[in-house]
Amino acid sequence: MILKSFHRFKFNRFLHNELFFHKQVVKHCNSRLFATLLPNKSNDESHKNLENIYDIVIVGGGIAGNALACALANSEITKSQRVALIEFSDVSYLKEWKPSPNEFSNRVSALTPQSIEFFKDIGVWKNLVLERVKPFNDIQVWDGITDARLNFNCKDNNTFRTNLENIGWIVENHNIQQAILTQLLQCKDFNFHFFENTKVEGIFLDDSSAYNAPSVNGQFDLSDWPNIKLSDGNFLKTRLLVGADGFNSVVRSFINIESIGWDYDAHAVVATLLVDRLVENVTAWQRFLPTGPIAMLPV
Ligand SMILES: Cc1cc2nc3c(=O)[nH]c(=O)nc-3n(C[C@H](O)[C@H](O)[C@H](O)COP(=O)(O)OP(=O)(O)OC[C@H]3O[C@@H](n4cnc5c(N)ncnc54)[C@H](O)[C@@H]3O)c2cc1C
Repeated sequence: MILKSFHRFKFNRFLHNELFFHKQVVKHCNSRLFATLLPNKSNDESHKNLENIYDIVIVGGGIAGNALACALANSEITKSQRVALIEFSDVSYLKEWKPSPNEFSNRVSALTPQSIEFFKDIGVWKNLVLERVKPFNDIQVWDGITDARLNFNCKDNNTFRTNLENIGWIVENHNIQQAILTQLLQCKDFNFHFFENTKVEGIFLDDSSAYNAPSVNGQFDLSDWPNIKLSDGNFLKTRLLVGADGFNSVVRSFINIESIGWDYDAHAVVATLLVDRLVENVTAWQRFLPTGPIAMLPV
């Protein structure tokens, strides 16, 4: 996830309170919030422009972006910030998601105990469909040629210093996403705008007039805040821009972060296997063969 904050000295006349809101992301977040400024501007022509100015804009409503929004909503420090989340795809099916018995989605994630704690802290854990959250307490990784192998087991005190009951939990991504969205949409006090079915088409630092971006009667100098061009024709401005927009990130391109990648020239198969119910299905298996890895995760 990429974060970039923008602030300008002139703007600070209106903005105070230094906030630090995420220990991994210690960024300037100082503001007299737009939220408190907006009602005073209701009869002003610039009101519309102010509506498009946010403290934080998160691009991408996958697991990372949604979880960040939810964490912001659940923090006393950040819940009054003006936050926008922009997601390209239609997520309505996620709000209604219910698992079909004996049918599993192919996209799953392994959650660590720390991730579970995080989800508990932000109110997400209780919304998960728990019968579809599968713990595993053992990992077997081995080489297909030499048979060299690694084994991690919760009961092995040499591997885990803390007393873990499980190494992790395998959860379908849809289950995680519905749980986060449910929590997020219940946060009524959160000053939050969810732009669903909306694509970020570009991010620019150009002169505001060129892109019809909001300028507020010269009151604020936001010229070094990015303009975010949306597919619905709107432009947003933000003090903190978060890129949670996946592998082809428009935010990453905007900040010129280079990435390296190559085609593996390989195809992968993902499937759900029905195992004998008498087998204790609590081990994550991974075997490295010359043709590529083969893995089996408990779900
Ligand atoms: C085939 C596959 C298998 C995987 N298997 C596993 C696994 O077994 N275990 C595991 O832990 N992880 C796995 N991963 C990785 C895991 O899925 C990702 O790390 C995780 O989903 C990343 O979440 P994210 O929220 O950062 O990004 P994403 O899930 O990629 O979400 C990015 C979001 O941003 C949105 N977006 C992108 N561009 C724009 C734009 N311009 N405007 C608006 N919205 C935009 C997209 O619509 C998307 O919803 C797998 C990934 C893939 C591709």
